[in-house]
Amino acid sequence: MTQLHSSYPTSEIWQEVETLLLQRSLKKALKITELGLQQAFSDTEKAIGLFLKGSILHVAGRYQGNRGLLEDALTHLRDALELGATQLDFCQLVQLEQGYVWLYLQSDDTALAHFETLFQATSEKKPIAFRALIGISYVWESKNDFQKALGTVRAAGELLKKHPQWSSDANLLELYRQLAHLHLKRQEYAKIAEYSQPMLEISRRIGTIEYEVTALCNLAIVHSFNSEYLPSMQFFLESDEKSRRIGFRYNSANCTINIGTIYAQLYNYEQALEKYRMVLTDYRDILSDSRLMAINNNIGNIYFMMEDLPLSLAYFEECLRLAQVAGNRQMTAYALAQMGRNYLAMGDADKAFDTGKKSADLMNELGRMVNGKQINLLNSAHLQLLFGNTTTAYRFALQGIAVARRMRDVISELRGLKLLSDILKKEKDYRRALRCQAIVSQLRDEIAKTQRNRQMIDLEIKYSLRDKRRRIEELTKENRYQGQLLEQSKQIAKQNEELQQANEELRQFAYITSHDLKEPLRMIGSFTQIIHNQFKAKMDDNNKIYFQYINEGVTRMNSLLDALLQYATIGKAEIERESVKLDNVVQLACQNLHVKIQETEAHVEADKLPTLLSVSSLLIQLFQNLIGNAIKFRREAFAPVVLISAELQGDEYLIRVQDNGIGIQPEHRDRIFVIFQRLHTRQKYEGTGIGLAICYKIVQRLGGRIWVESEDGFGSTFCFTLPK
Ligand code: ADP
Repeated sequence: MTQLHSSYPTSEIWQEVETLLLQRSLKKALKITELGLQQAFSDTEKAIGLFLKGSILHVAGRYQGNRGLLEDALTHLRDALELGATQLDFCQLVQLEQGYVWLYLQSDDTALAHFETLFQATSEKKPIAFRALIGISYVWESKNDFQKALGTVRAAGELLKKHPQWSSDANLLELYRQLAHLHLKRQEYAKIAEYSQPMLEISRRIGTIEYEVTALCNLAIVHSFNSEYLPSMQFFLESDEKSRRIGFRYNSANCTINIGTIYAQLYNYEQALEKYRMVLTDYRDILSDSRLMAINNNIGNIYFMMEDLPLSLAYFEECLRLAQVAGNRQMTAYALAQMGRNYLAMGDADKAFDTGKKSADLMNELGRMVNGKQINLLNSAHLQLLFGNTTTAYRFALQGIAVARRMRDVISELRGLKLLSDILKKEKDYRRALRCQAIVSQLRDEIAKTQRNRQMIDLEIKYSLRDKRRRIEELTKENRYQGQLLEQSKQIAKQNEELQQANEELRQFAYITSHDLKEPLRMIGSFTQIIHNQFKAKMDDNNKIYFQYINEGVTRMNSLLDALLQYATIGKAEIERESVKLDNVVQLACQNLHVKIQETEAHVEADKLPTLLSVSSLLIQLFQNLIGNAIKFRREAFAPVVLISAELQGDEYLIRVQDNGIGIQPEHRDRIFVIFQRLHTRQKYEGTGIGLAICYKIVQRLGGRIWVESEDGFGSTFCFTLPK
């Protein structure tokens, strides 16, 4: 990762691309780069854009194992170099990047040439010299020269010590990554942890995700080596998940293989097979030969443990084929040994003999301690036993057991001891056979114990994963729920808006109709009156009644229109609040009602009422309606009594208008506030059914609530609140 802004001034757009590149948001970075390139006017701007595009393509190519992209990256970098030729610092950055691309294109020597030229040109005076050394270390590693690779990365570390100001986070990450990586190859776990831990911390702090996933993967490997399977698994999973997010397929594949291996070690063969198969299908294109061989071998081993011998054999055969194609003699010998064991288990001594011989020859050629040697020796012991050569069999078995112990291969050790016991039995040396058998049972117990322990760990992992999955599910559910809520509240807001609009239209409609209808109604009223007066003398009784109906209709229509007009005009104008004495309001309302009050001998009594910031005209209308109703809906033979009281509750007043009238049945308590809803016939109690609708609207306008409390037959109490 080459940082531009630290060594070269860049425009804002290129800085944004750099940040995106750092976060590995490659698609977005590429899009913005394209845009920036279109807008770039100077050669310098263009050169930087080309360099960035080259870098993006390089990372994408490396992640996906796509040579085409890497070659594309080279073209862009070359163009950048040409355009920016006059800027030395810039050119050196480009050269460094080119070195890495060549490295990933497996042109080690070209890469080395780039890095070395760069290193010499800077004569250790610029921080880029440090980068060049790291690059050189990568090349040596790629050339399988670990000594040189380690020496170079240490030299790079020294350079940072000599120039403390070069110890930027980015440089430290580079240093730790390569150190951890090299120690990984040598399986020096303490060292891997030593460098991966700070790498994880820095990368998390500054958000460089590629380094984070690498550190996670390294630490997972360390845990796994220490048989700490649960944390190991968690680290692998996190690393895998984040790698997928940035499209870092190499690391994903790596994690998945390791997860499979952990499962295999925990005797969870099903999961192990699933992971291995997944790698073979999803990541085949980026797996190295040795990786492919290892996976096939592992699957073969699992099937062997599951006693599915033909399938097991098929995978070992595939492993052999791959090893032969790659010219990997060590792996060839190993696969042959595995196949030999397989043939023996299948009872095919001839084939076992053939493969065993080939394998043994190869191993002898290789001379070193080759993995699989123990298998081969035990295969030979088994064969010799079958052929009746117990002495030779005994020798092979002993050798096999010794090698198995050295290799910490308990499964082979157990197999060897069993063979030994069989051989001794065949030789009728029952005493030693029995002793051997005792050791076999002991070892078997130990293995079973480990197996149980590991199965427990497997369960633990399962539950912790399930927990995690459940948490994720809950979170997603929560998110979905929140999303729904948001959607709903949006809908509600929209409906509200529509409703408000509809209300406004309705109000206007009501106002216009009631207002305009009054005129023709007045005409009907006046002219029927004239006709009535003119023909009064000639009218029979029926005609008189008809005229009376017309009159009543007109009067009723008139009062309906009045009420409607009143209803429609509430809240028409913006309300202006003023200081209002409720005592005065009630007094005025009673004055308006004085005829009715006198007629019915009603008694209206009010407590001391508060003064509040409100609209007096609306309040008068409100009290007038409520007191009017209290009088109208009185019980026969009882003079109406109306009590008005107020009570401060928090920051609002609760006002009660209580009467001793006919009361309201509970089921009607909401209905009565709806316009035109009445509970009685006009003959019994005359009215329009608009009064309470008006009250409702007024209270709402003033920011309060209104409801009724009543016990049927024992009067009603209309309650409403008003803000202080
Ligand atoms: P109106 O009084 O014109 O009928 P309202 O809207 O004022 O219309 O009242 C609606 C209905 O609520 C009335 O018809 C009546 O049945 C009932 N109501 C209103 N106030 C009272 C009250 N104080 N006591 C009993 N019933 C009432």
